[in-house]
Amino acid sequence: MKVERKKIYVGDVAIGGNAPVTVQTMTNTITSDVESTVQQILLCEKYGLDLVRAAVNNEEDAKAIKEIKKRIHVPFIADIQYDYRLAMWAVENGADCIRINPGNMNSKNGLKELVKALSEKNIPIRVGVNSGSISREIIDRFHGVNVDSLVASAIEEVETLEDLNFTNMKVAIKSSDIYTSVAAYRKFYMLKEYPLHLGITEAGPYEQGSIKSAIGLGILLAEGIGNTIRVSLTDDPYKEVIAGKLILSSLNLHGKGINLISCPTCARTNGEMIALVQEFLKRKPEIQSKLNIAIMGCHVNGPGEAREADLGLAMTKQGAHLFRKGKKIQSCSREEAVDILIDAIIKLDGEKSGN
Ligand code: SF4
Repeated sequence: MKVERKKIYVGDVAIGGNAPVTVQTMTNTITSDVESTVQQILLCEKYGLDLVRAAVNNEEDAKAIKEIKKRIHVPFIADIQYDYRLAMWAVENGADCIRINPGNMNSKNGLKELVKALSEKNIPIRVGVNSGSISREIIDRFHGVNVDSLVASAIEEVETLEDLNFTNMKVAIKSSDIYTSVAAYRKFYMLKEYPLHLGITEAGPYEQGSIKSAIGLGILLAEGIGNTIRVSLTDDPYKEVIAGKLILSSLNLHGKGINLISCPTCARTNGEMIALVQEFLKRKPEIQSKLNIAIMGCHVNGPGEAREADLGLAMTKQGAHLFRKGKKIQSCSREEAVDILIDAIIKLDGEKSGN
């Protein structure tokens, strides 16, 4: 059953309602090292980052937000633990969203002061519950860390803010276990209407973490649950963005970009298909529309398998054919194939996006 999500804004990025699902990452530089932090964010932006989060551990980190924001192009989420003053400084220095758990703020009056400042500036809070943040009392009440205790913890955090008349929030309920995460998000989804930030926490290194996240997030996104995602990897943050974007494009949920369809190769494959696809991936353009692009290894099954693609390249014994919606529009040599496909993508993107 679909339950409409409230729409909020982090900077100029809409989350919830009918807004497209967005991809986040978290920096791992020292936030007050402005140069390193900015360079890391700019690299992530190249791969399509929508929102960035950074830990704010002290006053220097909070003050650095002002300089960082001058040089980046995505909204900035300040991740705060315990000390409401860090959140206040982050807001003063331009943070677009604050990630806190109200329950672990060290001052109740401080929390009230923070909520007042956020309300005045229309800045949202992300409530982030995970297996490690559940209170002892809730763990005892629900006999351990499980779906019920995770959801109860999230509800408690949310209601703390609601009691202060604050509803401008999104919520994350993360576990490193896929089954627990999926069940917790499903349960919370039916109880509260806030937009959901999805993640499988501590998912592991690139390959393992991407697959774990794709399974967990994929189940939920396919059910219409989830408004923004982070793939948590033990790796460089830009790889989290690559994985997140691939999850969205695989589910046809990407707002823009290329969804690549490429054949697994077989004894009918003409030419060096794997190298050709790798070359395409290195050179593929950033586009403003959504395109399905197929690269197939033969002209026997290739065009048929790629019929639904906006543009398809099928390798032949002599060269390659370029197809548009299953209709052959050009023949070329293998050496020219990637250039011709990229030119056709840019032309079609221009037609679709009106540029
Ligand atoms: Fe083999 Fe052709 Fe299918 Fe590729 S498209 S796997 S080359 S049959």
